[in-house]
Amino acid sequence: MNTTLTNTNIDRLFEKQTERYHKYPNPTYKERLSNLRKLEKVVLENREAIQEAIHQDFKKAPTESDFTEILPTVLEIRHAIKKLKSWMKPKKVGMPLVLFGTSAKTITEPKGVCLIISPWNYPFLLAFSPLVYALAAGNNAIIKPSELTPNTSSLIKKMIGQTFEKDQVTVVEGAVEEATSLLEKPFNHIFFTGSPAVGKVVMKAASKHLTSVTLELGGKSPVIVDQTADVEDAAEKIAWGKLMNNGQTCISPDYLLVHKSVKSDLIKAIQDKVGKYYDPTEQGIEKSPDYCRMVNQKHFERVANLIGDALDKGAKMPLGGKTQGEENFIEPTLLDEVPAEAQIMEEEIFGPIMPILSFNTLEEAVQIIRKKAKPLSLYIFSRSKKNQKYLLKNTTAGGTTINDVILHIAHNDLPFGGVNNSGIGKTHGKYGYSEFSNERAVLKQRVGLTSVKPFYPPYNANVKKMIDLLLKWM
Ligand code: NAD
Repeated sequence: MNTTLTNTNIDRLFEKQTERYHKYPNPTYKERLSNLRKLEKVVLENREAIQEAIHQDFKKAPTESDFTEILPTVLEIRHAIKKLKSWMKPKKVGMPLVLFGTSAKTITEPKGVCLIISPWNYPFLLAFSPLVYALAAGNNAIIKPSELTPNTSSLIKKMIGQTFEKDQVTVVEGAVEEATSLLEKPFNHIFFTGSPAVGKVVMKAASKHLTSVTLELGGKSPVIVDQTADVEDAAEKIAWGKLMNNGQTCISPDYLLVHKSVKSDLIKAIQDKVGKYYDPTEQGIEKSPDYCRMVNQKHFERVANLIGDALDKGAKMPLGGKTQGEENFIEPTLLDEVPAEAQIMEEEIFGPIMPILSFNTLEEAVQIIRKKAKPLSLYIFSRSKKNQKYLLKNTTAGGTTINDVILHIAHNDLPFGGVNNSGIGKTHGKYGYSEFSNERAVLKQRVGLTSVKPFYPPYNANVKKMIDLLLKWM
């Protein structure tokens, strides 16, 4: 694409959105509600088109798109519609003695013109979900969806174009060049979802204008299965969560830490569940219409190489291993006894491969987790309250589901986001609303004599005495 042209277009869009922001700096409750309703309508009207676009992009089953992209988007919109009034309500705060006679509250106001950069792995949900909160909080937004899922990106552009004026919400399609041009603009907030590596690029660009950022990143999310876990139940849930979207999920269970005493039972149970989900007629998983593909050849090769590297370094493979390059197909694969130096234990896998490590004590499991960056999610399978408590206390993560995987993301009253390398800031529900709002302090003083005037200069002995008293009694 011609850079000058891209820049001119982006400059114009940014200026138009800024003009609108200055004209309507704080949309009313009714206006915001109407924007959310328009968003809900366009999503429901395009349900099949969304399924089809995602299927064209990486063969994701339409029902899986329904469940993991369309349903959560609609539920987030409806939750925001239900809660908007309470989120927008000014919150009164008490009065400290030194400010006697004043009243104080916090109000939320839109940040202004926001940039939303989204990834390819849930190409619809992750472009629309931040938009729900941008609109609820009264902002204008430019969305830059991923170039790796072009069918979904172009559908998003069409849907947004039909629903909003360009100066309110618009879509800029493109890749690094377009994203770089966008990042040069002095946005009032940037909401980025993607890899930690690009998150650093975004944060650096944002620092030039001191733009606030929400960074929803990724990383290696461990699953711990202790000796008290219900192995069948754990296998059922882990296999489901791992293989959803072909393992290309930010909160996918990345690697398994299992107590030595239950390891072989767990492996057997996972083998069984994978077959039940994706190969009930035993014709081969590649025939399953429910098993989606790696997004492109680059990612296919990256993940296939992770398997090869682990096997070269001594890992065993109790399940899977089959690949088909022309289809970007990788069979669900379990890797056991994976050495710590294998590449698969270094990077986020983002594919249908599950490395297994075993432990004798929970302390050992915690030590393995602590050697890595703070994860986006951490899962615990255990029937022991003591062990659950120990693991919650001795690890950290953006979010945790106990005795299941993935599900904490689906609760709109829980914050969703990472810690350090897995993200900065939180989204969903009121957390998403806050991320796109400026919480403004408003203090109202009375006219005339106030509690502060006695402290004005000249600083005579009385001023000092009053400060002494305050230091003593407050
Ligand atoms: P990515 O970081 O490669 O790309 C994300 C977006 O950034 C895309 O729109 C892309 O065009 C843009 N981009 C790429 N390079 C850029 C650059 N140099 N400058 C500016 N923009 C650039 O991520 P991806 O491969 O699309 O997605 C996978 C990653 O996203 C994984 O790490 C995954 O864990 C993470 N992720 C996180 C969440 C979350 O909610 N925390 C959700 C989904 C995915």
